[in-house]
Amino acid sequence: MAQVVIRNLNKKFDEVHAVKDVNLDIRDKEFMVFVGPSGCGKTTTLRMIAGLESVTSGQILIGERVVNDLPPMDRDIAMVFQNYALYPHMSVYDNMAFGLKMRKFDREEIRRRVHEAADILGIRDYLHRKPRQLSGGQRQRVALGRAIVRHPQVFLFDEPLSNLDAKLRVQMRVELKKLHERLGTTAVYVTHDQVEAMTLGDRVVVMRDGVVQQVGEPLELYNRPANLFVAGFLGSPAMNFSRVRVAAANGGLRIENEGLRLAVPPPLAGRVGRYVGRELTFGIRPEDLRIATEADPRDLSFEAVVEVVERLGSETLLDLSVGADTMVAAVEPDAPARVRGRLRLAVNPERMHFFDPATET
Ligand code: ADP
Ligand code: MG
Repeated sequence: MAQVVIRNLNKKFDEVHAVKDVNLDIRDKEFMVFVGPSGCGKTTTLRMIAGLESVTSGQILIGERVVNDLPPMDRDIAMVFQNYALYPHMSVYDNMAFGLKMRKFDREEIRRRVHEAADILGIRDYLHRKPRQLSGGQRQRVALGRAIVRHPQVFLFDEPLSNLDAKLRVQMRVELKKLHERLGTTAVYVTHDQVEAMTLGDRVVVMRDGVVQQVGEPLELYNRPANLFVAGFLGSPAMNFSRVRVAAANGGLRIENEGLRLAVPPPLAGRVGRYVGRELTFGIRPEDLRIATEADPRDLSFEAVVEVVERLGSETLLDLSVGADTMVAAVEPDAPARVRGRLRLAVNPERMHFFDPATET
């Protein structure tokens, strides 16, 4: 078991600065997820931890050791890739045993570890098969098994579920979580899928263009995104954004544009007050809107035209026109909404977000 510490880590490939000054303390036993769009530097960071990519500058520590100059073999890590990377001509048993044989473990210990991992993963009956005789989910289990038998200090995962179909992906996600509960091994997990990040991570690192945007527990990122990028990246459907002007009104503050005129709740006045006479980006998540009733105050609701109604069963998504903006609202399954109808939507005042357009791109 081990912590992983990353200090001022940089990676340059010629003109591409793929990882920029990353600092991070991954705790012992923690499941840390890196998430961000394709090309933001997740894999490169993971490969530097693994020792598969050289470090341009900075330090990586696993446990108490600086590992910058250690070959992958000596880092006491095990990596699981998206494409499984199984040896096609070897049986499941031999695939799982391979890393241990290379490390000169004795035959009995190899046997014990392979059987133990196969039991954990439910693949005991397939040990004699070849990879091509397995389903995608079974192959991914073998790839996991190959990592587990090593008893490493740290697991490194690079999008291990992205080749599986949607249903299996959800199932394997739950299994990975159980596996981590059981083994408690420190894990660093890379994905572009925000749902995987939110559900698997003890903490999540959001990256963009090689730069860490925010590190925190899933709900911390969801409730208090540090910037517009994090706000827009986490949550599905995505947060709605509207450019608004800030005005002083009756001793309070108000935000307004062509379609919105909303009171700023007093707890947010401190942050928003500096922008009187200027513009802000207002953010509200689809799930923080609902169809208004007569009892809802006018200044915490707004009128919209319904463009699309998507009834998902568990909820209904409404695509709305609000002045010049479009918004999505996630409302009750049987919400009385018709295409081209007009509706009044109420805003949850505790969940209004504001971003400074001058500092956000
Ligand atoms: P992610 O895993 O988040 O999709 P990567 O870490 O693979 O992103 O890539 C980060 C950036 O580094 C991208 O711009 C990518 O094109 C670049 N990159 C990755 N590997 C190499 C390489 N071997 N040579 C040159 N550029 C690379
Ligand atoms: Mg990648």
